[in-house]
Amino acid sequence: MEAEYYTFGPYKIHEKEVFYTSQLSYALVNLRPLLPGHVLVCPRREVKRFVDLTVEETSDLWLTAQKVGARLEAHYNASSLTFAVQDGPQAGQTVPHMHVHILPRKGGDFEKNDEIYDAIDMKEKELKNKLDLDKDRKDRSLEEMAQEADELRKLFL
Ligand code: AMP
Repeated sequence: MEAEYYTFGPYKIHEKEVFYTSQLSYALVNLRPLLPGHVLVCPRREVKRFVDLTVEETSDLWLTAQKVGARLEAHYNASSLTFAVQDGPQAGQTVPHMHVHILPRKGGDFEKNDEIYDAIDMKEKELKNKLDLDKDRKDRSLEEMAQEADELRKLFL
C-alpha cells in the first residue's frame, strides 16, 4: 500500500512522522527538536497564517494541541508546557504553514526559562552560540523520527 503524506508548507510529511490526527489537524514529530517531546500541531489544510483558519479549524487545532500537550507532559515526566506560534515571517515563522510548537518543560531545562522563545527563533545568533544549540539541532533521519512517532502514537490508543 502506498504511504500517505501530509502537507507542511513546502514539505511532504511521511505518515510515519505523524503520531496523532483529528478531523482537521495532525501532530508530527520535529525534524530538529529543541527539547525531548518538541512536536508540532498543524491544520491539515495548508494555510500560512493563524487568521486564515476557519472557526472549525481553530477549535480543532487548539483542542488537538491541548490533548497532545497533556499526553506528552505525562510521557516525558515534565511539569509544564510551552505552546508557541510564530505567526508570520517577521515573528520568526520559517515554515509557511500555520503550526503550534508544543514543548514539555522541566525545571532547569533552559538556564533562563524564557530563552526557549529565543531558541525557537533561531535567528538570535548570539543566544544560539551561547546555548550551543547547533550541535543538538542536526536534521534527524526518517527512521529516528518514525521511532519517536511510534512511541507517541501509543499514548492515544
Ligand atoms: P517556525 O520557525 O516557527 O516556522 O518552526 C518551524 C519548525 O518546523 C521548526 O521547529 C523546525 O525544526 C520544524 N521543521 C522544519 N521542517 C520540518 C520537517 N520537514 N519535518 C518536521 N519538522 C520540520
